[in-house]
Formats: sequence, C-alpha cells, structure tokens
Amino acid sequence: MSSTGFKVAVLGSGISGAACASTLARNGISVTLFESARGPGGRMSQRREKTEDGKELHFDHGAPFFSVGKSEVLSLVQEWESRGFVAEWKEKFGFFDFQTHKFNNIEQEGLSKRYVGVPGMNSICKALCNENGVESKFGLGIGRIEWLHDDKVWSLTGVDGQNLGQFKGLVASDKNIVSPRITEVTGRLPPLDIKLVPELSEKLLNLPVKPCFVVMLAFAEPLSSIPVKAFSFENSQVLSRAYCDSSKPSRSTASERWILHSTPEYAEEIIAQTGLKKLSDITLNKVAEQLLQEFQSTGLITSQPFFKKAHRWGSAFPAASIAPEEKCLWDRNKRLAICGDFCVSPNVEGAIDSGLAAALKLRDSVSSL
Ligand SMILES: Cc1cc2nc3c(=O)[nH]c(=O)nc-3n(C[C@H](O)[C@H](O)[C@H](O)COP(=O)(O)OP(=O)(O)OC[C@H]3O[C@@H](n4cnc5c(N)ncnc54)[C@H](O)[C@@H]3O)c2cc1C
Repeated sequence: MSSTGFKVAVLGSGISGAACASTLARNGISVTLFESARGPGGRMSQRREKTEDGKELHFDHGAPFFSVGKSEVLSLVQEWESRGFVAEWKEKFGFFDFQTHKFNNIEQEGLSKRYVGVPGMNSICKALCNENGVESKFGLGIGRIEWLHDDKVWSLTGVDGQNLGQFKGLVASDKNIVSPRITEVTGRLPPLDIKLVPELSEKLLNLPVKPCFVVMLAFAEPLSSIPVKAFSFENSQVLSRAYCDSSKPSRSTASERWILHSTPEYAEEIIAQTGLKKLSDITLNKVAEQLLQEFQSTGLITSQPFFKKAHRWGSAFPAASIAPEEKCLWDRNKRLAICGDFCVSPNVEGAIDSGLAAALKLRDSVSSL
C-alpha cells in the first residue's frame, strides 16, 4: 500500500512528538498532531510574561539547553542548526559549593557543545510542527482513545467530547496519556486504557518521575559578580542549577534574566503538602521567595529582581527508562507507538531518539501493508 490515505495521529508536541511527526511527514505519511497546550514544546516550552509596567519577558522555563552524543540524533540537530532554529550556547559552566561559598571547576568556553533553540527553546518544536505534511492542532487535548476493532482504526475524542477523527496509526508521546498518575492532576482517567495494549501494559504501570520547581527572575542590571552563565549547586537542599537565560544566542538583553531550578527533594516536599492539583498563587510566591532567598544567601547577588515567578513541573524528569533498547513501545497489530524521554533517557536527546524510533516503526508498518 502507498502511504497515501494512511493517516497517523501524533499526540503531543514536545520534542519526541514533534520529531516523530516531521519524520513521518518527510516519509510521505499524512500526520495530524494534537497538543493540549496553547503552543508547541512541552518541556521545551518558552514562557512569555508581562511585568506590571508592560515589559514583555521571555524565559526558557523547561529544559535550558541540551547536549547530544548519538550520531543519528546529532545529524538531525546539525540539520536544524543549518536551518537556523538551533544554535550552540557557548558559555562557561561551573559548580558553586554552598559549604565553601566558592565556584569550582569552571570549564573553558565551548569545551562540550550545548545546544539551544533560537530565538527560544520552543523554536525547534514550532519549526517541526510547521513542516509540510504536518497538520498541527493546538489547544486540543485528547480525552479518549478507542480502538475500533472492525475497521482497525483509532478513534479520537477531545477532552470536551468533540470527535477528532479516525486514524490508522497512533503515536502517544506523553506518559500522561497512559499513566493513571494523570487522574491525580486532572481528576480524569488517562485517555488510553492500557488494557487495550496488554502486552505493553506491564511497562506502563509504574512510571516514576522527579518533580522540579523553577523560578524565573529578571534583573535590571547584570549580576556581574557571577563568573559563569550556568552552574550547578553543590550542598544545597533547595537549589540544583542556575542559568542566565538572556546570555543565550538571539535573546533580548534588555534585562538580565536568570532561571533557578530546585532540587527534586525540595519539590517533592512541597508536593507532599499540596498534592498535584493546580497551585495557588500564594504557594507559588512562597516557592519563588524561598528559592530566591537561597540564591541570595550565596552572596552573589546584591540587587533585587524586578520580576520573579515560580512554575511547577510535576513530572520534570522520568526516573526510569522503560525501553532503552527498542527506544519506544510498539504494538504492530494496532499500529500504536508510545514514545518520549521516559522510554530512553530523561533528556532532550532521549526524547528525540524515541520519537525517531516511533516514526520508523510506523513508516515500516506502512511499507509492509
Ligand atoms: C525544569 C526542566 C529542566 C530540564 N533540563 C534539561 C536539560 O538540561 N537537558 C536536557 O536534555 N533535558 C532537560 N529536561 C528534560 C527535557 O525537557 C525532556 O526530556 C524533553 O523535553 C521531553 O520531551 P517529550 O517529548 O518526551 O515530552 P514532553 O515535552 O513532556 O511532551 C509531551 C507533550 O504531550 C502533550 N500532551 C499530554 N497529554 C496530551 C493529551 N491528552 N492530548 C494532547 N497532548 C497531550 C503535553 O502537553 C506535552 O506538550 C528538563 C526538563 C525540565 C522540566
């Protein structure tokens, strides 16, 4: 069978779903991508904020950058670089020790390559979702996924009950589409009942995750006593990393913007008190203040930020990889691929690798029809 008429739905526009959708389209397969959020990116999103006096600020509040080791992922990233939506972030990275209050191991500029999307981290997913052959629909979360046995197609229903069509192949690129954990967050059942794919269900039953709070800060003046633009903290219960977002290529330098990441332990402690439901502004403000105070206690900052806001990532990082060899879960009979960082490794490279693997499974299943 030719790929004409073979329609695939990709759920999720994070980097695994976006890379999968664009690879399918390049192979002549018609793809519709559904994303519940207003825009693309998932955990590679960019946050747009407005200050009280109307200044617009952008923050990469998910993954701050990524590195690549695998040759097949690297060649794709180099292609994105040549197309202008990826660039290398050539800054020195270091470690700050809370016990000695000193920086250790400041590396030389450009020692290991770190990539960012330009002009924002979400630019990569945005470009992939806009590729020829990918029809992207944002703000359309999938609420129910059914397998129509007689027609051998997947039928999709939106969270508001709307019929979103039937598809011969399906890619689910978020663990929340199958994991019962989503019920704790939204009160709804996961869209895909894992009983439909009994041979995969064992791997999907337990998908442990690590949470993270990020705090976005904007300063009127550069924090000139910090010798690096990105660093990890040692010996802090609260902070794990800090990044100067405005030092990345193609970002506005009208203000100096920093992002702080909490330790997973700190985030777990807050979540133990609040649960996973939407957080109140009071709690988010308290978190922003605590992380800022810890940052200030380093003595590295003397000025106050003119903007601060916290964001919770309830499942920032998967704590296990469920398909490190196969790179995605695959049901050949139902033409269902489940992909994402939780299959390979808890980072952007793992997510790309998994999305590519899912696309190849579907492509091969079309050519064998
Ligand atoms: C704070 C933080 C720091 C990080 N730091 C790094 C780092 O330094 N380096 C690195 O490489 N990685 C880092 N990561 C990890 C990296 O961001 C992820 O590994 C990667 O972006 C995961 O991509 P994904 O496509 O697997 O999942 P996601 O990006 O989570 O995409 C899944 C998408 O599916 C959508 N979706 C879910 N359910 C539905 C539904 N029912 N219907 C429609 N759409 C749905 C979601 O809205 C989401 O957009 C970090 C992540 C966070 C949060």
